[in-house]
Amino acid sequence: MNIKKIKPFSKPIYITRPILPDLKKITFYLKDVWKSQWLSNNGYQHKKFEYKLKKYLKVPYLSLFNNGTIALLVAIKSLKLSGEVVTTPFTFPATPHCISWNNLTPVFCDIDPDTMNINPDKIESLITKKTSAILAVHVFGSPCDVEKIQKIANKYNLKVIYDAAHAFGVKINGVGIGNFGDVSMFSFHATKLFHTAEGGALAFKDVKLKTKIDLLKNFGIKNEEEVVDIGINGKMNEIQAVLGQLVLEKVDDEMKKRKLLLDAYHNYLKDIEGISFLKLPDTIKSSHQYFTIRINEKEFGKSRNYIYDKFKKYNVFTRKYFYPLCSNYPHYINFLSSKKANLPVAHTVVNEVLSMPFYGGLSVNDIEKICKILKSFKNR
Ligand SMILES: *Cc1c(COP(=O)(O)O)cnc(C)c1O
Repeated sequence: MNIKKIKPFSKPIYITRPILPDLKKITFYLKDVWKSQWLSNNGYQHKKFEYKLKKYLKVPYLSLFNNGTIALLVAIKSLKLSGEVVTTPFTFPATPHCISWNNLTPVFCDIDPDTMNINPDKIESLITKKTSAILAVHVFGSPCDVEKIQKIANKYNLKVIYDAAHAFGVKINGVGIGNFGDVSMFSFHATKLFHTAEGGALAFKDVKLKTKIDLLKNFGIKNEEEVVDIGINGKMNEIQAVLGQLVLEKVDDEMKKRKLLLDAYHNYLKDIEGISFLKLPDTIKSSHQYFTIRINEKEFGKSRNYIYDKFKKYNVFTRKYFYPLCSNYPHYINFLSSKKANLPVAHTVVNEVLSMPFYGGLSVNDIEKICKILKSFKNR
């Protein structure tokens, strides 16, 4: 192959593009909102959306939020935790920050070399008398080892929270991902597969949590006369709820398109030495949230950072999710659990990962070209 012949894309290719409902359709639905003159606080659209989404995610209870981070803050608050929470360093900043905002201490646990999720076999050695919970992340939408994590939690009487920001619509043997642990958080940020521009939700099984969580997201206001808890403003508004219902109508189609692109990536990348990717078993329904490759520098001959930089010359903008590790942020770096020697896998993985362009608006031809560009880097 003559590498000089590959021309850059004429338009920038980003790692994602949001699902956008038809503008006329959303205007039509917004007319109802305008007519009602009710824009937030558990309105008609909010109720409709919450019901539809609960069905879609196949979870017993659901509570909508204005974003995923506030949802996670409230999830932690609702479980009345204390002391330390075991979590992963390989995640988005919101995960450990929500622990810290609740005046708890994140304890970083190393990750599994294949799934890149928290390694359940490393959790027990980090549990102390102060530990009250495990906060795990379904990284790139591939589910954590939920059974092993629950066993550990049962043994030590810990709560389990899942950051399921990447795991919208994921199922394990047909069971919605939001059914595992005590509470799961979904993010509906514009960059996520399913979105409401900004937004999020908590899923849980305990009916008592529904009252508690709905109270906490509305300042702790019980009624006009009583404010009974230290709440926050986590409410989703009616405009977000309209957008969510229309995006929900299109999400299955987007997933189907992404599945075709995923197969194309697998096909074009499978024989490139030094490039690997995670293949989920058949028991798992994927979210198709991200497609992330791993670059083994020794085998490929070039580093992840080299590839990331060179892709830009072709108008391809990949992302180094999740670089740097959370344990290396200034606020966390001096924690005992942040020591590099305790997190060898995370420190290797964080320099190997690259999230690739992955959204329904791309064609199989685009994927082929992106893979050809990648292949061409090997021989320079
Ligand atoms: C996007 C994301 C969040 C934050 O969600 P927001 O809705 O943007 O607040 C938290 N955790 C992970 C892993 C995420 O990817």
